Amino acid sequence: MRDVSQLHPELQEKIERLKSMCDAHGLKLGISECLRTAEEQDELYAQGRTKPGQIVTYARGCDYGSQHQWGIAFDFYQDIPGHAYDDLSFFYNVGGILAKACGLAWGGNWVGFVDRPHLYLPYWGDTPAPLKRQYVTPEAFIASWEPREMLVVDGWMGPATVKRLQEIFCTPQDGILSDQWIFWRDANPGLCSAEWVDHPSDGSALVRSLQEMVEVPVDGILGPETITALQSYFGTYQDGCMSGPSALVMAIQRWCNNQADLNV
Ligand SMILES: [Zn+2]
Repeated sequence: MRDVSQLHPELQEKIERLKSMCDAHGLKLGISECLRTAEEQDELYAQGRTKPGQIVTYARGCDYGSQHQWGIAFDFYQDIPGHAYDDLSFFYNVGGILAKACGLAWGGNWVGFVDRPHLYLPYWGDTPAPLKRQYVTPEAFIASWEPREMLVVDGWMGPATVKRLQEIFCTPQDGILSDQWIFWRDANPGLCSAEWVDHPSDGSALVRSLQEMVEVPVDGILGPETITALQSYFGTYQDGCMSGPSALVMAIQRWCNNQADLNV
């Protein structure tokens, strides 16, 4: 797909810089392939194997092995009508040099499978393997580009606040404090995204993480001892319950908002 706006924001900035450098050097820069879906990658993989043509890639769609699938690469060509098949050695060599001056890496420098139209962000090396290890799928990586929305500091432990805490503590992200003892419900009106049960078993994974953080017994249930310890930790009045609205929850929401740079 030729949609530059789907690429990593930093790559978009570098493309702008490269465009003006190419203009200054009389190079007609055209941009072809940008972000590629798994289906599009499979189509390309078929070329030269189950479909006619030359082999153009070693990466299958489901392997997420192409930098194009991660939005960190694009291909360029000489944008002069009727001259697409000229000997473009000069064009690509100059383009590659200018691109490197813009902080991009160039497939023309690859050993073995040289890919002269290919430019990419250099931070993860020559293959998407490190991205695959960290994010597993391109969708997760692309989601991490979005600027994080700030939580509303309203003192209510609702689904958005619980979900943000779950992201920060890397516990399952459903926005619910699951498996909480119904005995504590009336004392904690601020806890408005809890699942109240008569006989909790393991409690909530998030509460267990919070209990580890404030060093109280870890049972996954948000009771007075845990809440008092949280109030001490976050420096709010210690009464052992989450009122509605609650000063403790406000402190937690502010704390979450200060973790905005976290890459979760
Ligand atoms: Zn490419």
